[in-house]
Amino acid sequence: MPARQLAAVARHAAPCFRIEEVSGDRTVYEHRERAADAAAGGDPRIASALASISASRLVQHLTTLTGFGTRFSTSDGFRRAIEFCSGVLGSSGYQVTQQAITVPGHGMSANLIARLPGSSAPPRLLVTAHLDSINLAGGPAALAPGADDDGTGSAGVLEMAHVLASLGAAADVLFVLFGGEEQGLFGSKQFVAAGQGFSPGAVAGVVNMDMIGSDNTLDTPGAPQFGVLIEGAEISRTLVEKLSASAAAYTSLDVTVSFDPHDSDHFSFIEAGIPAVLTIEGEDAANHAIHSAHDTMDRVKPALAVEILKMNLATILGWNAQPGIRLSQAATAKPKEKLMPTHRQCATVLVYLMNLEKHPSLRLRQGSARQRLAMSASSIVPKPRNIPVVVHILFKDDADNISDAQVHSQIDVLNKDYNMTNADLGAVPAAFKPLIGNPQITFHLAKVDQTGAPTSGITRKKVSVNAWGADDKMKSTTAGGVDAWDPNRYLNVWVCRLGDNLLGYAQFPDGGPLETDGVVITTPGFGVGGTAASPFDLGRTATHEIGHYLGLFHVFGNSAVPNCTDSDEVSDTPNQLGPNFGRPSFPTMSCPSEPNGDMFCNYMDYVDDVAMMMFSKQQVSRMQASMAVSRPNLGVDPSV
Ligand SMILES: [Zn+2]
Repeated sequence: MPARQLAAVARHAAPCFRIEEVSGDRTVYEHRERAADAAAGGDPRIASALASISASRLVQHLTTLTGFGTRFSTSDGFRRAIEFCSGVLGSSGYQVTQQAITVPGHGMSANLIARLPGSSAPPRLLVTAHLDSINLAGGPAALAPGADDDGTGSAGVLEMAHVLASLGAAADVLFVLFGGEEQGLFGSKQFVAAGQGFSPGAVAGVVNMDMIGSDNTLDTPGAPQFGVLIEGAEISRTLVEKLSASAAAYTSLDVTVSFDPHDSDHFSFIEAGIPAVLTIEGEDAANHAIHSAHDTMDRVKPALAVEILKMNLATILGWNAQPGIRLSQAATAKPKEKLMPTHRQCATVLVYLMNLEKHPSLRLRQGSARQRLAMSASSIVPKPRNIPVVVHILFKDDADNISDAQVHSQIDVLNKDYNMTNADLGAVPAAFKPLIGNPQITFHLAKVDQTGAPTSGITRKKVSVNAWGADDKMKSTTAGGVDAWDPNRYLNVWVCRLGDNLLGYAQFPDGGPLETDGVVITTPGFGVGGTAASPFDLGRTATHEIGHYLGLFHVFGNSAVPNCTDSDEVSDTPNQLGPNFGRPSFPTMSCPSEPNGDMFCNYMDYVDDVAMMMFSKQQVSRMQASMAVSRPNLGVDPSV
């Protein structure tokens, strides 16, 4: 046992370790020394393909997975997580099926199995993780965010699936997310027994990821930053060696290998004679946050997960480079993404947190803005605002160079939603009707540009980018996008194809640098008609994002860990555990303290366009106060 791990065990007296005699010639853990020239040994085509792994996509998926409260195998949270992962895999082009499994003593759960449609040969490689989480002390209903165990492995499977599909290299890979792991590997045991979708004899290797994001090593100067344990059995020695070689060639990981498998889903395959390997963060036994409410996002190091994903992906791509498979094509093929989100996902909070990291001075500005906000919220006398909007259209395909009419349709929706004249207001459940607020904010396309010359309020630029990320590049001419018009006077709206299933994002008041202030909306989620696609074709993504831009949080709060005490700082929106998706019906109860349940019909939830139709009175007060504090000159000059 490594000395640091021993020290950790001694400190915490972990209940789950065993001591056994090891015969003189048996190696339990073997630390691999890094060859000095290891990094030079990689295939450049594979190295370039590894750059497709996205830390921000991984974090987004992980944030959603931890947002279900618990993913206990038989819980509603687990079922929602299965639905979420089905959606993500489906949008990467996979055919998704579920296998019902039993978890003795608890009931029914499921495995999620994904494969590219049209593959006739049995899969040669499997990439797996377990989707379930557990709170050992608290029981099935207790909070179990399962960020590291095994949100990281599950988000890793989604990311591997996405990248392999976009590289055209997923044809002989099967992806599986198991239930029932924490109760005794029930998902993987029943998967292997059923043999659904694979033929054991055809499987060359199973790469299982369980906990790939927690850095448990003490930071020793000069030591490699991150460690990984590659654990298999004699039957999986080839795979272990390939992974170890990939780690040396393509990553900075410090590698330990073991041929003593236990305690995760690779074990079920090994028992059945199938070569399987566990890839797990180094010194995982020193991670004492797992299996409890403390296994949260803030403890996860996405950079470590990305390193382990690189090792695993390089191994699969290298494998596929064997005769008969087409790596050269894979590495050079353009990613083909299906860029239509299936459920609402907004990157506003993620971008805000990244801005705080990049610009530490923002914390001060935020603090003072919040203080002034708290002081003025009750005393504010709203100024009439008629906000000039400039819409920057970025298009690669001419079909995305949306019409003026589609832009006007979006302005119409905003004027209805922000003046309580939206036709669907009557659909608000009776319990929430008395709470409807009227922002009385109007929007118009800018009449003059920054130089005072007349303008349509629309700019257009042909670009070469397939899919933009939540990284503000569309807001900079030098980065390939278009610079903002003076954000003190104009609301800048960038319309472009967003990747990663994103519908849009906004910058909070005082939430980032002036030059990136504004909102971004994905082309198929903007306006009505034209490129707008169901279920986000009623212009409500802009209503939602401009809500953020004017200071509103999501009605389910900002915490990465769902809970019923995390408020949106607005008193008349009920607290709710996490986001609602789709088209919920009244009542939707997620927090016991709220008699009417969730206000899912609020523009600041995650529901479909057709299901959101109101702001609350206190949200309106907050928007007015935010504008007074942080956007004093917006929409007050009638000549703009
Ligand atoms: Zn949002």
